[in-house]
Amino acid sequence: MHDFNYLRPKSLADAVAAFKNAGDGRYLAGGQTMIPVMKQRLASPSDVIDLSQVPELKGIAVNGGIVAIGAMTSHAEVAASKDVQAAIPALADLASGIGDPHVRNRGTIGGSIANNDPAADYPAAVVGLNATVVTDRRRIAAADFFTGMFGTALEEGELVTRVEFPTPEAAAYEKFLHPASRFALVGVFVARTKSGVRAAVTGAGPCVFRETVLEQALTRTFAANAVKNIDIDASNLNSDIHGSAEYRAHLVGVLAARAVAKAR
Ligand SMILES: Cc1cc2nc3c(=O)[nH]c(=O)nc-3n(C[C@H](O)[C@H](O)[C@H](O)COP(=O)(O)OP(=O)(O)OC[C@H]3O[C@@H](n4cnc5c(N)ncnc54)[C@H](O)[C@@H]3O)c2cc1C
Repeated sequence: MHDFNYLRPKSLADAVAAFKNAGDGRYLAGGQTMIPVMKQRLASPSDVIDLSQVPELKGIAVNGGIVAIGAMTSHAEVAASKDVQAAIPALADLASGIGDPHVRNRGTIGGSIANNDPAADYPAAVVGLNATVVTDRRRIAAADFFTGMFGTALEEGELVTRVEFPTPEAAAYEKFLHPASRFALVGVFVARTKSGVRAAVTGAGPCVFRETVLEQALTRTFAANAVKNIDIDASNLNSDIHGSAEYRAHLVGVLAARAVAKAR
């Protein structure tokens, strides 16, 4: 690693100011991606701005059908939250399946979505539940937030403060996990909401996406049989040593069926 300034601001305003004053600043959440990236010298920031002492980024609140989760909330906290378990059990379940205990205790929802790994779990919930990402500058709809592989709508220095998830009528997440990292080879989040059925897929393509073929079938019948053997187009899906595009397309239907069965 190169030398860098380590800053630990005590408020949101100070964190944003620290970034503005830095030559090449980077925010640090749990460091689960940032530290390896810096060790490999893929990033060599002049200033590392640790968000762990910023109170505005902490906590879980349930109000008026919205579950708001602070950006610095760890996966373990979401998984263990009685409020999340009661309001959106699928979200607590998703968080409980991320990585291993170390990753769940250090990794955060803000870091996960800002990083937008194509195989990450949270993006499927953000899109599947039509959540809103709140930053220090604006509110960003799920549909606009994830822009491509490791890409987001976040501007230079823009800080995710919380994610607001509307409570669905029914929802569930199922993933086929990579046995070593536990990242999703494919993950499917299905949700039945007041405004319709949503199905978000992670791991299968370069970035999380809504699968309209699933949504149309589940709108007709919200049942596992409606999607179990569904034909999913493999042409834009990932193909690598872990699985072909066709295999991933097959998994989308299998996991969607499991998720619907669980949601019901
Ligand atoms: C071994 C291993 C297994 C894993 N398995 C899974 C898995 O199964 N499923 C899964 O979904 N994920 C998995 N992860 C990813 C993990 O869950 C973390 O969410 C991810 O690595 C980001 O880490 P972090 O939250 O500590 O953020 P950091 O590493 O600290 O930051 C990541 C990036 O986000 C930026 N950032 C952080 N917070 C904010 C913010 N509030 N606003 C704006 N930018 C911000 C940082 O500047 C940095 O660019 C795994 C990671 C590891 C190391």
